Amino acid sequence: TEEQMAAKLSLQGLKLGFIGAGNMAESIVRGLTKSGILSPSSILTASIFDDRVDLFRSMGVEIVKNNTQIVERSDIVVVSVKPQIVKEVLLEVKPVIRPNHLLVSIASGIKLKTMQDWSGHGRLIRVMPNTPSAVSHGASVMCLGEEATDDDREKVGSIFGAIGKVWKDVKEECFDGVTGLSGSGPAYIFLAIEAMADGGVAAGLPRDLALSLATQTVYGAAAMVRETGKHPGELKDSVASPSGTTIAAIRELERGGFRGVLMNAVIASANRSRDLS
Ligand code: NAD
Repeated sequence: TEEQMAAKLSLQGLKLGFIGAGNMAESIVRGLTKSGILSPSSILTASIFDDRVDLFRSMGVEIVKNNTQIVERSDIVVVSVKPQIVKEVLLEVKPVIRPNHLLVSIASGIKLKTMQDWSGHGRLIRVMPNTPSAVSHGASVMCLGEEATDDDREKVGSIFGAIGKVWKDVKEECFDGVTGLSGSGPAYIFLAIEAMADGGVAAGLPRDLALSLATQTVYGAAAMVRETGKHPGELKDSVASPSGTTIAAIRELERGGFRGVLMNAVIASANRSRDLS
């Protein structure tokens, strides 16, 4: 697409490094490679623990010796270690960070201000992705540090755009709420899919058919909201006919406090995120 072409152009000649060759780094690398907007030979990482080196090497990613070399050789450095390791790695690479470097953190709960204190660097972007990024249907939000430029914003937008949708200008105050919604949200829907499948089995369906139908139904409902642009309430009304089957089910959902339960789930995760950061 035109968007992919523009993304490819904006990242041309760039070196992208990952500190932390984990699951999230892998998802991003796979997405970038699949979309063709950045070749794996422009990507580098190091593995402190050799177990993941082979995986990244087999994708065509260059493996360097250590975190310091990643920074020295990259233009954009994604910090993709667990939150409790971020301080350690930033202090480690601080001596080799230069003004032209752009640091991107995906560590949940670590604020821009904290990153800036640890790295001594203001050219930062904080991103909150989610797990469906692994299958190119991620939801990522971004917020810019003090010295990040518009160009930095576009480049990082292109990188996360390769693994799903990106919201480029989300206020940092919203990050706990984002964690509660899109960060933890896939798990709520996994539960919903499992429960709908159980309902199908209770109604007499074979297990594998029930699970496949539940999965496709959730996928289809999300696609309908996205592609029609209609309000979900309107879509719900349009499938609930008088004294029909759907309204009978909706009545049960309302009786069970379905909406309140989902709202509370988002708030509980957001509160927990606030406590942890
Ligand atoms: P992960 O454990 O799979 O990856 C972390 C990697 O860092 C591991 O491979 C580990 O070997 C490596 N590592 C540990 N210490 C290191 C060091 N000192 N130097 C270099 N590498 C080191 O974790 P993940 O799921 O990929 O998550 C990474 C970050 O992404 C976390 O901060 C998490 O909060 C954030 N995040 C993840 C998700 C998600 O859905 N997985 C969503 C949003 C944000």
